[in-house]
Amino acid sequence: MHTNGLIGHSALLARMGSAIDADTLHHALLFEGPPGVGKRTVALHLALAHNCLDDDVQARPCTRCRSCTTIASGNHPDIVWVAPDAKQASGSIPIARIREVVRQAGYHRFGARRRFIIIDPAEAMAGPAANALLKTLEEPPDGTGFILLATNANALLPTIISRCQRVRFGPVPSEALITWLTDKGIENAQDIASVAFGCPGVAMDMTDGALATRRETRDALINVLHGDLDTLFKYTQKLCSGGRAAWRLKAERVFELLEELIRDAAVSQSGSTSPLVNTDRPEVVARWAEALWPDGIVQCQAALTDVRLDLNRMVSGKTAVDALLCTVREQLGVPEALATS
Ligand SMILES: [Zn+2]
Repeated sequence: MHTNGLIGHSALLARMGSAIDADTLHHALLFEGPPGVGKRTVALHLALAHNCLDDDVQARPCTRCRSCTTIASGNHPDIVWVAPDAKQASGSIPIARIREVVRQAGYHRFGARRRFIIIDPAEAMAGPAANALLKTLEEPPDGTGFILLATNANALLPTIISRCQRVRFGPVPSEALITWLTDKGIENAQDIASVAFGCPGVAMDMTDGALATRRETRDALINVLHGDLDTLFKYTQKLCSGGRAAWRLKAERVFELLEELIRDAAVSQSGSTSPLVNTDRPEVVARWAEALWPDGIVQCQAALTDVRLDLNRMVSGKTAVDALLCTVREQLGVPEALATS
């Protein structure tokens, strides 16, 4: 198997490539790692490589043969993707779908050397659905293999985990990510890599203007925290308006941005070599580091934990977010009343 076109994960790819070449790939793999890190891409690559018709095993997947093109187009009946039912509000994979897959695993293959059943995300199988899979997962019919993708494998039943070979996906090194983005002709590769945390999928999502939007949201938040209280209260009023589900999402995004700013402040003071996220606003990172280190960091992180707990308890959104932002503002040492010019 070759790994052209893939980024990062070289050790695990080498391991699985050898297993494919020797036809000893484990029948149940559990891919674990953050969203966008490359689990789905690697699963597809394995399915392609295992079924490619090229005579040279080192050249697989060739991307040109009948098998490769059919799999890549998503139309190969032996490569089965199992995802949550879009019509179900719960976002879960129905037990009926798992039963169907179990039946399917027993059919003759439609020409593939190996049938792959890819469950994405595996956490979407609730208890009964997961239980319906156990027996087949343990002893799949010849020529059938499972790949389970999970962000949080600990949420899976232990009986599922114990039947799988666990494969952990760590972050792609920043330098590799920057090179990969640059090769794709993306101009601000360095900036994008700094907010993608080693996840190529996240980086790609950032290339379509999302980075600019994200920075606008963050800059608005910084202005609010450095400004007067009246502006802060108006900001939370606007943030927490409309349907609860919609504003919870918006608020969570703000919490994440705040978390990154606090983290940057801690990183720059602690002498850690971890890369900063907000590299385009060094003056802000410096100001926050100066003001928050070390006690303010703890206070702000505690306030973030509190706000999430409060919102889960259905406490008024505005009250909870006001409390968070006021705490951060106070820890930053912004005076109660700002002189107006
Ligand atoms: Zn091929």
